Amino acid sequence: MSKEREVIVVGAGPAGAITATILAQQGHDVLLLDKQTFPRDKTCGDAVPSGAIDILYNAGMKEKVETAVARGEFYPLTHMRLVSPKGHQLIAPLQRGDLGTDSYIAPRLYFDALIQQHAVAVGAEFRQAQVETPLVENGRIVGVKARTNGLVENLRAKIVVGADGVTSTIARALRPQTAQHVDAHRAVALRAYIEDIEEFPHEVEFYLYKNILPGYAWIFPTAPGQANIGLGMRLDHFRQTPRKLKDMLTEFLAMPAIQKRLKQGWKLHDIATWQLNFGSQRHIQYTYDGAVLVGDAAGLINPLTGGGIHNSLISGELAAQTIHEALLNSDTLQTGLQAYAKRCHNALWDGMKRSYRLQKSLIRFPFLVDFLISRLQANSSLAKIFLTKL
Ligand SMILES: Cc1cc2nc3c(=O)[nH]c(=O)nc-3n(C[C@H](O)[C@H](O)[C@H](O)COP(=O)(O)OP(=O)(O)OC[C@H]3O[C@@H](n4cnc5c(N)ncnc54)[C@H](O)[C@@H]3O)c2cc1C
Repeated sequence: MSKEREVIVVGAGPAGAITATILAQQGHDVLLLDKQTFPRDKTCGDAVPSGAIDILYNAGMKEKVETAVARGEFYPLTHMRLVSPKGHQLIAPLQRGDLGTDSYIAPRLYFDALIQQHAVAVGAEFRQAQVETPLVENGRIVGVKARTNGLVENLRAKIVVGADGVTSTIARALRPQTAQHVDAHRAVALRAYIEDIEEFPHEVEFYLYKNILPGYAWIFPTAPGQANIGLGMRLDHFRQTPRKLKDMLTEFLAMPAIQKRLKQGWKLHDIATWQLNFGSQRHIQYTYDGAVLVGDAAGLINPLTGGGIHNSLISGELAAQTIHEALLNSDTLQTGLQAYAKRCHNALWDGMKRSYRLQKSLIRFPFLVDFLISRLQANSSLAKIFLTKL
């Protein structure tokens, strides 16, 4: 049996890596586990809003972000373009973060490795290990059972952080089946990278077109002539259509406005689909005796934009703050951790509710999208949500 750690973080994506970073910076003993080694890809649109970059700066990553930009790994954004079914367009400048930061298209291959490496640099121990299940004794989580190179080990900790994404092993083991996300608060999305497209430099494009509302298709440039391209749809709507996401992408690329931008020899690569769980579903439990859930494991994606990176980092910050207090007070049961759920609610719930309401109106009144976009000013609520949350 290995020695008991203060904190085991399961999953080294943005949510887990920032939680591990902040706790390690506060002097805690942190073991960060991931089934993959880094760098690794994660199916995503790669759009990282300035607010998320602020959080990285606060964690001491300014220089690392600047280096990634200088190397061309992060592509800076200045504007967004929303396109309605009839082709009305709204182009608006993106807001800078509180610390003067930019938004980026930051492929997850680079973005996630940057935070994971930072966590290690500030003192977290990283180990490649696939967690099979949480260890539970008398109703309290006391660690995880993890497999490394075929060897299964019981790893004990005062607190386990479930940061293992939308298919979270930790969340599935702790939450009853009846308390999981329902289809109206979930989505599926497809992402590909495209070579040889005429991009709008430094501009993210969202296409709210009829067949996939309240979802949308996107073109997010990663470099001149290259982009992350994809589309996402609410799961209950997707289940009602016989069409596959890949066919929808083919349709999107065949739209005259897009087709004329495809250069000779253009090609798609790294096509992948993945799921999203929205933060708009009520009564989702984030804290347990000895455990908290962060990021996609908690289900904190914005239901209108599909953005989850910023919320993952926010939840990681709030979890680290609460865990630090719980360890100081020697109360690592739910009583000591429930402040985290409250903090998440205060930080995120109003935005989730607003976004879900707006999403529902887009379903009921699709013609409004044309009307709104043709009338919208950059400070309207729809534009603002897309602007701040991407
Ligand atoms: C197609 C698509 C497009 C998206 N586009 C955007 C976008 O443009 N902008 C945005 O902000 N958000 C976007 N999102 C949402 C965003 O990808 C997620 O919200 C974000 O990745 C959540 O981060 P996380 O750290 O919680 O989880 P993840 O990034 O999923 O990280 C979880 C980690 O846990 C590890 N893990 C999983 N299971 C285990 C296990 N059993 N044992 C050990 N390790 C494990 C995984 O290897 C992984 O490294 C998109 C999502 C999809 C599906």
